[in-house]
Amino acid sequence: MSCCDKPGLLPVEDALARLLTLAEQSPIDETEVLPLGAVDGRVLAEPLLAGLDLPPWPNSAMDGYALRHADWQGEPLPVSQKIFAGQAGEALQPGTCARIFTGAPVPDCADCVEMQENAEVLADGRVRFLEPLRVGQHVRPRGQETRQGDCVLPAGSRLGPIEIGLAASLGQAELKVRRRPRVALLSTGDELVEPGAPLAAGQIYNSNRHLLHAWLQRFGCDVVDAGILPDDLPRTREALAGLSGVDLILSTGGVSVGEADFLGAALREAGELALWKLAIKPGKPLTVGHYRQVPVIGLPGNPASTLVTFALLARPYLMRRLGMQNVEPLRMQVPAGFDWSKPGNRREYLRARLENGRAVPYANQSSGVLRSAAWAEGLAEVREGTTLKEGDWLTFIPFSELLD
Ligand code: AMP
Ligand code: MG
Repeated sequence: MSCCDKPGLLPVEDALARLLTLAEQSPIDETEVLPLGAVDGRVLAEPLLAGLDLPPWPNSAMDGYALRHADWQGEPLPVSQKIFAGQAGEALQPGTCARIFTGAPVPDCADCVEMQENAEVLADGRVRFLEPLRVGQHVRPRGQETRQGDCVLPAGSRLGPIEIGLAASLGQAELKVRRRPRVALLSTGDELVEPGAPLAAGQIYNSNRHLLHAWLQRFGCDVVDAGILPDDLPRTREALAGLSGVDLILSTGGVSVGEADFLGAALREAGELALWKLAIKPGKPLTVGHYRQVPVIGLPGNPASTLVTFALLARPYLMRRLGMQNVEPLRMQVPAGFDWSKPGNRREYLRARLENGRAVPYANQSSGVLRSAAWAEGLAEVREGTTLKEGDWLTFIPFSELLD
């Protein structure tokens, strides 16, 4: 892994491109076959091919009557059969119609369906059709959605309710998915205390651990929670040595080149490590390396920085390790609801809300303030070297695109 050798700051897209390249070098490609009930959030390991035509036979889109268009001469037709959803019906007798319900197979020899609202049932039971008919009307043809053999989901698709529903519609009871990534989660810092314990002078509660733990779990990782590393080299060494069988070591804090850079020191002894200085705010220092062959990503410790760098860099890195091609969140163009008069040298990700369709940032954008993100609905991007006037377009990434 090469160091950030360019002078200056590394643009976000370059950092992402490097991380994705690294991810491709260490794919998490073991697979398992799971029932549909257990695949939510997992990544499909092989393309899903349709095993049948969908729908498997022409069926009615309406409650009404199936008939042969050629039989309709304006004269009422007798009803020769009744076909409910789930029944097969018989070939339609010439000169008759079939009472039919939504989802029921359109019988052989019938070629259109008229909805019951446009039909009049006469006293003798025959049916008069009140409107002109069209061949194929209200018939969902066989295979209109999918043909047998079609690839309906490529390998690398992230499975959610829609994909799971689609697999079910094709009769697929199980899917082959990538196994869950195992991520060791480390927090660093002598100042950190777990929620529930009292705070002594100089201490703060460990928020990153819980933020990332929940996020990684939602994403589908098995989290090996390695707790808090004190700012102490021997204990950092010891904690790292105790981690085995993980796909990624993810840490927060202790990555600036400050005096308390124990994590960096321990990694340098038993692996390799690069410190990337990113053109991103909040954020900036990102540790990328290996510890005894295990990839390591060290996120900056300030909670808003942890959030932004995980969302924009570590999460897509994990996605690519699982074989996902599309790792980009959906971005929206929205007008700025603020002025930005001082161009910066780092790309800012303002925790912002949409108010009347305009991105409005939280008043306090300090990287230590996680409340900004709880108030916000997403990240408003202000590119490096730019100014904005209220109403200018900017990119907004909703949190809903990032938080799973
Ligand atoms: P560091 O990168 O270790 O210098 O940390 C930068 C800032 O983030 C400091 O103010 C730390 O106290 C804070 N910080 C580091 N880790 C955490 C954490 N797990 N939870 C909350 N704040 C943290
Ligand atoms: Mg620290």
